[in-house]
Amino acid sequence: FTDVVTVRQIHEESRKFAAPFQWRAKASKQLGDGAKDQPIFNPTNPSEIVGFAENVTADQARAAIGVAMEGQKAWGAMDVVDRAGILKRAATMFEERATEFFALATREAGKSLADGIAEVREAVDFLRYYANEALKAEHNGDPRGVIVCISPWNFPLAIFSGQVAAALVTGNAVVAKPAEQSPLMGGLAVSILHEAGVPKDALLLAAGAGDIGAALTGDPRIGGVCFTGSTEVAKLIDMQMAKSAASDAMLIAETGGLNAMIVDSTALAEQAVRDIVASAFQSAGQRCSALRMLYVQQDIADDLLDMLKGAMDALALGDPWDDATDVGPVIDQDAQAEILAYCADLEQQGRLLHKLNAPKKGYFVAPHLFKVSGIEDLSREIFGPILHVATFKAREIDQVIENVNARGFGLTFGLHTRVDDRIEKIGSQIKVGNFYVNRNQIGAIVGSQPFGGEGYSGTGPKAGGPNYLNRFRNVSKARELNVETA
Ligand code: NAD
Repeated sequence: FTDVVTVRQIHEESRKFAAPFQWRAKASKQLGDGAKDQPIFNPTNPSEIVGFAENVTADQARAAIGVAMEGQKAWGAMDVVDRAGILKRAATMFEERATEFFALATREAGKSLADGIAEVREAVDFLRYYANEALKAEHNGDPRGVIVCISPWNFPLAIFSGQVAAALVTGNAVVAKPAEQSPLMGGLAVSILHEAGVPKDALLLAAGAGDIGAALTGDPRIGGVCFTGSTEVAKLIDMQMAKSAASDAMLIAETGGLNAMIVDSTALAEQAVRDIVASAFQSAGQRCSALRMLYVQQDIADDLLDMLKGAMDALALGDPWDDATDVGPVIDQDAQAEILAYCADLEQQGRLLHKLNAPKKGYFVAPHLFKVSGIEDLSREIFGPILHVATFKAREIDQVIENVNARGFGLTFGLHTRVDDRIEKIGSQIKVGNFYVNRNQIGAIVGSQPFGGEGYSGTGPKAGGPNYLNRFRNVSKARELNVETA
């Protein structure tokens, strides 16, 4: 970022947007009256209002599709060079407003400053990358029309912007529905994109909860849906579209994960522990890529788990504004209650190996470590700082891989080993979109390390990768969803 150079400076600049500063995600004027103010609260300090989203009604959501269909005509007819130029201008404007986004990431989504910085960087990279990709000849083909973009709260700027940028640059118009927990970052992104030159009738914000998503995805006029969120909601969307959408309406679904890591007895223990902690607990475990299930070879398990408990003890839980904080709150009260109930259940079964203490105020969940065995113990994604661990004997490693593959969630997988042959063998056996060796298993780098899952975790091709834009033009198949059998 050009105008801020040190973390301290970033911090000071972002602080200008601390409470009582408030944001407003506005409903588009073309949609008429009816939108209702929804206050957005800070998960670290739940009495603090961060801003207001103007939530649209289902009728307004459908009206947005009508407006976008008209708007798409001129936008789709524009030269791709001009559309790409507008996105690049928006990227620069995102950078200029970066500190405002950092503050929003912290106050709206409970993200640490480091996570907030990474989030804005990724959004900017998506805008520039898709702008450049769109100029390549292999992306010729007609736009699909109006794309409904539905995003989750855990990357309220990066995923939102990536979806919108891909759909827009290929000549589609967009109706974007951010997650109801975090609409303000999407709202700010839309207003900047408009300022950069995207016509207001080619990009509309439809803030609201799942019913608004259902109204949008069930509209027969849409050209496609670009969705990131849970596997359950992907299945609902697939059903909604099956009932009403045109047969060639496209669906991209990037969904949840039950991600595993193997640490064998040759691994460098210090490095493995550092990577386990980052993979499981960074962003309070609220990443689709986060490590949920750790398999440790039995010979080293006692020592490694002792080290892991020590490393957990060193984690600082607290206000994400604070530079020293490692683990902030989870997104809201419902998430907190669901995760804590899950933990209480496992604790009652006598499976707790270690846990920390959480601050009393705010929606905090302390990192927990549970001992489990076998595949039946991990059947659904718990979206918080919860790590499960099982041990295996050397001869059981093939069975571990089989168990992981049998779950059918192929998002990320981590391996810590110093045996080259094992890296190659497991790499060829494991069915995941992203395979990480001797490093933490979070993160994606737009352009060089695209991200996406297999099986119940998503449809591909990977976001931030070379073939992604084809899905937004009629040169690729419409529906490739395979989550409906999950
Ligand atoms: P979610 O599925 O609950 O919600 C996602 C979005 O879908 C929200 O905007 C929500 O309002 C909307 N929605 C809900 N019901 C709908 C319906 N019937 N029709 C249309 N839209 C509807 O997910 P979340 O809690 O916001 O996000 C966390 C989930 O996202 C986790 O499962 C995580 O693994 C996943 N995720 C996946 C990736 C990836 O790249 N694979 C990235 C980030 C998050």
